[in-house]
Amino acid sequence: MLLTDIEFHEANTLKEASECMARYAPNARLMAGGTDLLVDLKTGRVGTNHVVSLNRIAALRGLATTNGSLRMGALTTPHQLWASTTIWERFPAILDAVRDMAVPQIRNMATVGGNIASAVPSGDLPPILTVLKASVILWSLSGEREVPLEDFFLGPRKTVRRDEEILTEIRLPYPPPRFGAAYVPFALREANGCSVAAVAASLLLDQKGIIQDARVCLGAVAPIPLLVKAAKAALVGKAADKAAFRRAAEEAAKISKPISDIRSSAVYRQELVSVLTRRALDSARQRALGGQQ
Ligand SMILES: Cc1cc2nc3c(=O)[nH]c(=O)nc-3n(C[C@H](O)[C@H](O)[C@H](O)COP(=O)(O)OP(=O)(O)OC[C@H]3O[C@@H](n4cnc5c(N)ncnc54)[C@H](O)[C@@H]3O)c2cc1C
Repeated sequence: MLLTDIEFHEANTLKEASECMARYAPNARLMAGGTDLLVDLKTGRVGTNHVVSLNRIAALRGLATTNGSLRMGALTTPHQLWASTTIWERFPAILDAVRDMAVPQIRNMATVGGNIASAVPSGDLPPILTVLKASVILWSLSGEREVPLEDFFLGPRKTVRRDEEILTEIRLPYPPPRFGAAYVPFALREANGCSVAAVAASLLLDQKGIIQDARVCLGAVAPIPLLVKAAKAALVGKAADKAAFRRAAEEAAKISKPISDIRSSAVYRQELVSVLTRRALDSARQRALGGQQ
């Protein structure tokens, strides 16, 4: 399908992009890599008369460290994450999410900001970034605000972001010693497959292997990436062993709200949540014990 009647605006600065959105919203959309938006426009899921491209805005690019946090520009691509030594050395769990994401062409075009802002329940990066305690920066002419990722999503394709706000960066605190995280997705094929269910988990252990902090976040089995608070309660203060992981997995399965669709039944997805939670916690423990995040 050809896209007609759309005015394309190439913003050179955040100010220009935000002004454009303020002028034309709700009849305008921001575009980063376009891998979600162009599909939505062509299939008619989204209708708009103005597309505002962010691609010329240099401030949205790059990885940098400031005040003990990694700053990830919103236009960072999955391929750039894969190529980053900082990600390999300090945030290897992010590699779990980008390794089999889509196909190489998409990994070169898609952006981290777009993966978050699109708020598609099966998006691969939000669950792992949530357990890593990421926050996002939302910028507009009236100022900027920092929102913890766990508070960002409201429902499928709905977030707390206002039309004129641009997601400029993702902030990730550097993990402490004896911290480990992992992301375990399950799809019907190894690459270019939408997750049927996915689980991200993180553990912080003390010197005796007792869990000091834990996070479990589910993907593709609820309207939003679902942080399982009851899993944390089942894990903290316990030894990081199979019994504790099993209890956390039960809590995760209980709270998941999967749907039945072309890829799986709800019952199967719920069962998957339990299995994937145990696997994610086990990998997180191995990384924590390996001295590497
Ligand atoms: C063939 C194919 C395979 C795919 N496979 C996967 C997969 O395996 N895993 C996965 O998670 N996703 C997958 N996707 C979905 C998509 O590629 C990702 O969600 C991607 O990260 C979106 O980023 P983008 O820059 O292309 O977003 P865009 O399409 O440019 O934008 C998506 C939405 O986010 C908004 N937006 C984008 N950037 C910003 C910003 N900085 N500030 C505010 N709003 C913004 C846009 O307005 C739009 O509503 C796939 C898509 C295709 C076409």
